[in-house]
Amino acid sequence: MVQGVRSTEVEELLKVRNLTKSFGPVTANDGVCLDVRRGEIHCLFGENGAGKSTLSACLYGYYRVDSGEIVFKGKPVELNSPADALRLGIGMVHQHFVLVSNFTVLENIIVGSTDVGIFLNKADARHKVLELCKECDIDIDLDRKVWQLSVGEQQWVEILKALYFGAELLILDEPTAVLTPQQSDQLFRIITGMRGRGLSIIIISHKLREVMQSDRVTILRKGKVVATVDTADSTAEAITALMVGHKITRRVRDTSVLAAGNFLSVQKICAKGDWGEDVLDDISFDIAKHEILGLAGVAGNGQKELFEVLMGVRSACAGRISLDGQPVVAPTAREMLDRGVGFVPDDRFLEGLIPQFGTAENLVLGWQRAPEYRWGQFLDWRKMGLLARRKIEEFKVVTASAELPVERLSGGNAQRVILAREFLHARGLLLANQPTRGLDVAASEFVYEKILEKRAEGFAVLLASEELDDLLRLCDRIAVICKGRIMGIVRPEETSLLDLGMMMAGDARQLERTLQ
Ligand code: ADP
Ligand code: MG
Repeated sequence: MVQGVRSTEVEELLKVRNLTKSFGPVTANDGVCLDVRRGEIHCLFGENGAGKSTLSACLYGYYRVDSGEIVFKGKPVELNSPADALRLGIGMVHQHFVLVSNFTVLENIIVGSTDVGIFLNKADARHKVLELCKECDIDIDLDRKVWQLSVGEQQWVEILKALYFGAELLILDEPTAVLTPQQSDQLFRIITGMRGRGLSIIIISHKLREVMQSDRVTILRKGKVVATVDTADSTAEAITALMVGHKITRRVRDTSVLAAGNFLSVQKICAKGDWGEDVLDDISFDIAKHEILGLAGVAGNGQKELFEVLMGVRSACAGRISLDGQPVVAPTAREMLDRGVGFVPDDRFLEGLIPQFGTAENLVLGWQRAPEYRWGQFLDWRKMGLLARRKIEEFKVVTASAELPVERLSGGNAQRVILAREFLHARGLLLANQPTRGLDVAASEFVYEKILEKRAEGFAVLLASEELDDLLRLCDRIAVICKGRIMGIVRPEETSLLDLGMMMAGDARQLERTLQ
């Protein structure tokens, strides 16, 4: 180490002073100060739109700051590109991976490495990567092609790549939004191992269980730092209250409203997956008016395919569906929409929205031929604009205008646009697949509030979620799915997290308690 290094340089790897970054009229980061120590896991926590992604993008050189100072390893630095940041030792794991899918793991890690030039010695590189794997407790076959990997494994490749390039600070922006609970535990084991080696990690997460595993949390609200706290000295409730500026009331269903009269009836549905494998096996359930049926399960156990069958975009090979007593003969997406089925998909941008279109166009998506939005043979833009402004206000969508492409909205605001559209057109049945995935606590509560309103109006609701606590307080009954089969249907007051967890893992002992 160089002589004369001040002690603070050893302690603090990164110091951010009064960082400000605006996009037009929006100040995404407003005088942010942040210290990240060596060997710490530092969490950034805040509502959707609080400025977390902008801050991390400034720190890895993707955005240039308007003003403020970034000091890394004791020296003020200017970051003009991600390459600048990486050269200094700041790496980023992207939420949407930037890997080459037909390269192997090893090739992806070393591609772009300049110190070895074209005479890249693969054997040396492999040795170095294997060392990194061992140090971080990552178990991966370096010769597999990236397309063969699970999402969780692709994330490890991103991490290894950053470490291979010598990152001392690793930034992860909502890395667990796309992971199952088990994969997220694995990720935390890996970053804990990295901390043990003296590396620093900045992680953005909305999941309190993960936030509480970090060493310190910096809470952002509307672009400003509210506080930095030691997690050991705080609680999940206190941190949440700091984030929203007040206590959050967690909504529960109104038990005085009783389910009445079946609305959706699903009988003995079977379906095949994209590779011809069995994904749904003999699925039966009913949902009544004024009833929310929860669907619990680890992601990938047939939930997605079940929603697709109910939406008419995947055909069932056996079984029957009826809506309000009327059989659905040949379900197509058009028929289901026309019969008043509303659908909130789990992948907002892939299935729910056209990213390049504005809120106004996305609000009539699927209904663009309906007479109320047409003026002769054209879309009635004036009417759509009025509708959009009304819905933006009602659903509190934060957007610069009704025309701004929705890809520029935060996850929570994009979800509000989908809810506004589906609630506008649905009559009777709402299908919501992971509607709060990736949303902060306040945005999730907003979604739940709207779903409970629909229940009060008399809708039948199917709500799939991995957040079991939420299912227990919102649902009238909970169906548990595992490997395409319903393991049981239970009432929240007669079950526990443990029971649900066992059924999710395929334990059918609860079957006798099925209430149908
Ligand atoms: P978070 O990651 O905490 O959800 P972001 O940093 O993504 O928040 O966004 C902070 C604010 O800046 C939001 O109001 C968002 O709409 C706005 N914003 C972010 N990126 C851009 C951009 N490229 N152009 C315009 N506005 C943006
Ligand atoms: Mg973000």
